[in-house]
Amino acid sequence: MASLAFDRVGKTYPDGTVAVSNVSFTIENGEFVVLVGPSGCGKSTLLRMAAGLEMLNSGRLIMDDRDVSHVEPQDRDIAMIFQNYALYPHMTVYENMAFGLQQRKMPKAEIERLVREAAEMLDLTRYLQRKPGALSGGQRQRVAMGRAIVRHPLAFLMDEPLSNLDAKLRVQMRGELKLLNERLGVTTLYVTHDQVEAMTMGDRVAVLKPVSDATESNLQQIDTPQ
Ligand code: ADP
Ligand code: ADP
Repeated sequence: MASLAFDRVGKTYPDGTVAVSNVSFTIENGEFVVLVGPSGCGKSTLLRMAAGLEMLNSGRLIMDDRDVSHVEPQDRDIAMIFQNYALYPHMTVYENMAFGLQQRKMPKAEIERLVREAAEMLDLTRYLQRKPGALSGGQRQRVAMGRAIVRHPLAFLMDEPLSNLDAKLRVQMRGELKLLNERLGVTTLYVTHDQVEAMTMGDRVAVLKPVSDATESNLQQIDTPQ
């Protein structure tokens, strides 16, 4: 767990598009911040910069007291969860959850312990030997969460993780995600289009607006929902 601070962060793509301008805010340790704003205002870009998948052009990204702006994604201890779960279809649930840990050459017994712990937490223990094709949408989403949790990351970044689910499941998963965040106490930045999600899930809601000029901040406000 760590605080995550955007300090005057800016991003201009090589074609000249200014996607993010002068954005500063801090997500406190264990806090759940929801990021909203119209399409094209830089939400995904901000998330991808936090993950290290896109480099900043200006400003800094600070985790606790460490400047991680130039740290490679795999060394940031940040887990990203997308809407298209990106599970490996030919692997079992167990193998999907273990994969990232195996890449890190972690001992087998330790991997098994972490996978079983996450599966227990997500109610997936019964499905560990199934392949993703034999799971429901909600179960697949939980496997995607499990892959992030096993690493015990310092922060979660979620880009509309529930937008592919039907309305009923979305409501259920909102509650589950929130509970999980509270149990694990993981600092979270959560992007959504859904107003209800923003109001019900966010400890605070950050609102971005489209970039108008490259010096003014395109962070409109960050507040506790009413
Ligand atoms: P949001 O997630 O809020 O919809 P994005 O971060 O995807 O916004 O995009 C912000 C702006 O940056 C948009 O104008 C978009 O067209 C532009 N953009 C996104 N990715 C690229 C890219 N790889 N190259 C050039 N422009 C991009
Ligand atoms: P350059 O000046 O060559 O464009 P950057 O300033 O973008 O490099 O990157 C600075 C550091 O970040 C380098 O150590 C580089 O290896 C690393 N880096 C660059 N792009 C990425 C990326 N997409 N993901 C992770 N690390 C990156």
